[in-house]
Amino acid sequence: METDPNCIFCKIVAGDIPASKVHQDDACVAFLDIAPLIEGHVLLIPAGHYETLDQIPPDEVAAMLKNLPALVAAVKAVTNCQGVNVLQNNGRVAHQVVPHVHFHIIPRNPGDEFHFNWPAGIYPQGRAEQLTEAMRKQLAE
Ligand code: AMP
Ligand code: ZN
Repeated sequence: METDPNCIFCKIVAGDIPASKVHQDDACVAFLDIAPLIEGHVLLIPAGHYETLDQIPPDEVAAMLKNLPALVAAVKAVTNCQGVNVLQNNGRVAHQVVPHVHFHIIPRNPGDEFHFNWPAGIYPQGRAEQLTEAMRKQLAE
């Protein structure tokens, strides 16, 4: 399994720096985000060091993500929130600051302080078909 001695999340996996861990197994660690968007904001990370989601082997991401439903249920039960956002940022442009794959589990309530833009668009004629075909080809490679 990949690790990076300079990575803050690898250090959390190894127990070299403290974290409020709510779960740890061979594949992953879940812990409270140190700067929560909302109280109860949890991060789920793979034990292996991969910078972005396209780099992690499928079996390692599967072993991590099998914990996601129970973690979402625990966040909901403990915070008594009405909803949850699961966010996963890849790349600086997508607001990724820590270069070790992580899923944010963020409790949501009406009128809370977390906001984001969702500028839903519309495809010009033929563009959706073009993109679909290109992605199918890419996946077949
Ligand atoms: P992102 O912007 O998706 O890379 O999010 C990184 C998250 O990691 C931020 O929400 C930080 O608050 C959180 N974070 C950074 N260092 C630590 C740490 N030592 N313990 C817990 N959370 C951390
Ligand atoms: Zn790492």
